[in-house]
Amino acid sequence: LVVLRDVNKHFGALHVLRDIDLTVRRGEVVVVIGPSGSGKSTLCRVINRLEPIDSGTITIDGAELPEEGRELARLRAEVGMVFQSFNLFAHKTILDNVMLGPVKAKGMRPRDAERRAKDLLDRVGVANQSAKRPAQLSGGQQQRVAIARALAMQPKVMLFDEPTSALDPEMINEVLDVMTDLAKDGMTMVVVTHEMGFARRAADRVVFMDEGRIVEEATPEEFFTNARSPRAQDFLSKLL
Ligand code: ATP
Ligand code: MG
Repeated sequence: LVVLRDVNKHFGALHVLRDIDLTVRRGEVVVVIGPSGSGKSTLCRVINRLEPIDSGTITIDGAELPEEGRELARLRAEVGMVFQSFNLFAHKTILDNVMLGPVKAKGMRPRDAERRAKDLLDRVGVANQSAKRPAQLSGGQQQRVAIARALAMQPKVMLFDEPTSALDPEMINEVLDVMTDLAKDGMTMVVVTHEMGFARRAADRVVFMDEGRIVEEATPEEFFTNARSPRAQDFLSKLL
């Protein structure tokens, strides 16, 4: 569903993505891990062209991401993204936050968008918060709203960049549970996370990055019990 071929990306002299080849199949959950600065966030950001690439190709459901234009906007709408910071509209209600994208970007009728938003808020467990503003919710609740907002656009794939790393420990699981349910429902997902429990439980595949390269790709079982590369072994040993 998402295919990166020989993708390279520089920030000035810094080569942040090196010859990245990655295929994410429909319904697959790929967890990306690696040390700080290894290029994980940049990988997410190039998949929906928040950052341009220098070479290589990225295709989403068979269509190559162009540099710009209407086709880019269409493909971008197929990629939902959830960041570490929740990025909700502070001055809008929770319901509006989830409704607005489909109404503005897809021309959906407000009544239909509202119905869908309510379903999604229910699904992530915050339906009773619809009338509040983001600041009145806990971090975990806000992040679940951010997930609902991304889902409202009916994306084909969801990207998560450290969705729980800004949360207090007691809120991490409520967000991971929503993500686990999403994975079980067959959503195609790319998840950057340090939550190894989630990776073991929900990932079909673990991708380990270091210095802009994909160093290792394996099933969680293989990766956690029998990482091949010294870099990955070193990384894992520091987690324990
Ligand atoms: P972390 O685990 O800390 O989030 P990461 O694996 O997500 O790290 P990236 O954020 O992708 O790493 O960054 C990869 C490298 O690119 C880092 O060296 C970072 O400093 C650099 N970088 C990221 N964004 C930019 C930018 N906009 N301009 C210049 N350099 C950048
Ligand atoms: Mg990052």
